[in-house]
Amino acid sequence: MIEVSVKCIGCTKCVPACPFGAIAMVSKKAVINLEACTFCGACVQVCPVEAISITREVSSKDFSSYKGVWVWVEFEDSTNLDKQGEIKKVSYELLSEGRKLADQLGQDLCAVALSDKNSNYEKVLGEYGADKVYLVENAEFVQYNTDIYSTAIMALINRHKPAVFLFGATVKGRDLAPRLAAALYVGLTADCTGLAIRDGLLIQSRPAFGGNIMADIIAPNSRPQMSTVRPNVMKISRPVTGKIAILIREDIKIDKNLRRVKILERKIDENQGGVKIENANIIVSGGRGMKNKEKFKIIEELAQTLGGVVGASRAAVDLGFKEKSHQVGQSGTTVSPRLYLAFGISGAVQHLVGMKTSDIIIAVNKDPNASIFSVAKYAVIGDAHEIAPKLIEALRKRKKG
Ligand code: FAD
Ligand code: SF4
Ligand code: SF4
Repeated sequence: MIEVSVKCIGCTKCVPACPFGAIAMVSKKAVINLEACTFCGACVQVCPVEAISITREVSSKDFSSYKGVWVWVEFEDSTNLDKQGEIKKVSYELLSEGRKLADQLGQDLCAVALSDKNSNYEKVLGEYGADKVYLVENAEFVQYNTDIYSTAIMALINRHKPAVFLFGATVKGRDLAPRLAAALYVGLTADCTGLAIRDGLLIQSRPAFGGNIMADIIAPNSRPQMSTVRPNVMKISRPVTGKIAILIREDIKIDKNLRRVKILERKIDENQGGVKIENANIIVSGGRGMKNKEKFKIIEELAQTLGGVVGASRAAVDLGFKEKSHQVGQSGTTVSPRLYLAFGISGAVQHLVGMKTSDIIIAVNKDPNASIFSVAKYAVIGDAHEIAPKLIEALRKRKKG
């Protein structure tokens, strides 16, 4: 239910803020057309005297009108200049996983794209499993903004009522999803590492208690069931060439005055070689076994020789061998490179959850019982300080030859 109270001073700010033209001024007071209102909350945000209130009924448990698995399509922004405007890899991962969920539910997989223009999304996203693409086009979407994005997506949710909504656990996804969940009064499971359907409900699995147990979380009393999913956890399915999704252009008016935060300056903190650790194909990681910062430099040299990026265990980061942005694991970054080399890393569960989906893992450890060997394709039992220089030498010889 939405109401305008006697506090309304007739300032008219809510009129242009409504994306659906649902507000008119009558006798210097805002009046809301309930048939047009989608309860997006944009007017509540702009009202200077808190005259507008929305109350949401959560008692109804009939969710039969909520259908479809939705995936928020995220785009690279100016923090990744080479790929700016491209669809982020995590969106393909979510579509691949979402396809399986939608099939189990017997419902559609829908991609939600907020963009300044359509770049063949029905084809690109269709090939990765989307049945439908909801596209909202507006120049305001070029730069991510919580208020603008959440207003548009709230409107879509209220119009179409998805059963499941997935977001990447990226900087933006972690900002947008909680904002929507709070506005909708629904639950949100953050940082999921596994998703499944059981008895029609989304089972959202994530590590709990320091990664020692996996918790399965359900949201039986609210819709949509919302999750953020860590990048590099779900595998991307092979695209289905020629599959085209149904493109649905959504007309949502966006008032730029909704934007309460303005970005004044951007400072880009790239990892070594300009490649972010989450996107790297080759990662060479070092742990406490590298002993000190000086000796850790051999890891950097090896990464450079292989054209890869440096990773580190939390112990190595805590000891100051490498900056936090290089940390792999539960409280660092989840990675899934083609090649992951681990030197002097024991393989604590919190480290393993962040790298075990790498294609090929090579571990070097002097302890033959080290847990890292349980996920390694090649286990090298020996001294990292002897093996790393020899490997560099061999690689350099090979390059010359
Ligand atoms: P250690 O466990 O001390 O292992 C050092 C290894 O080096 C040993 O296996 C040893 O045999 C080997 N070694 C020693 N000398 C040599 C040598 N000369 N040659 C070869 N091998 C040698 N950890 C992470 O990595 N990432 C995370 O994101 C993370 N998040 C966490 C979140 C929580 C809530 C908690 C509680 C912990 C987290 N941890 C994380 C910490 C994790 O539990 C481990 O403490 C950490 O991963 C250990 O790092 P390590 O393997 O470098 O050190
Ligand atoms: Fe318009 Fe949204 Fe306010 Fe409804 S809640 S009147 S749709 S701005
Ligand atoms: Fe009234 Fe608030 Fe709308 Fe201004 S913004 S017209 S005070 S309801």
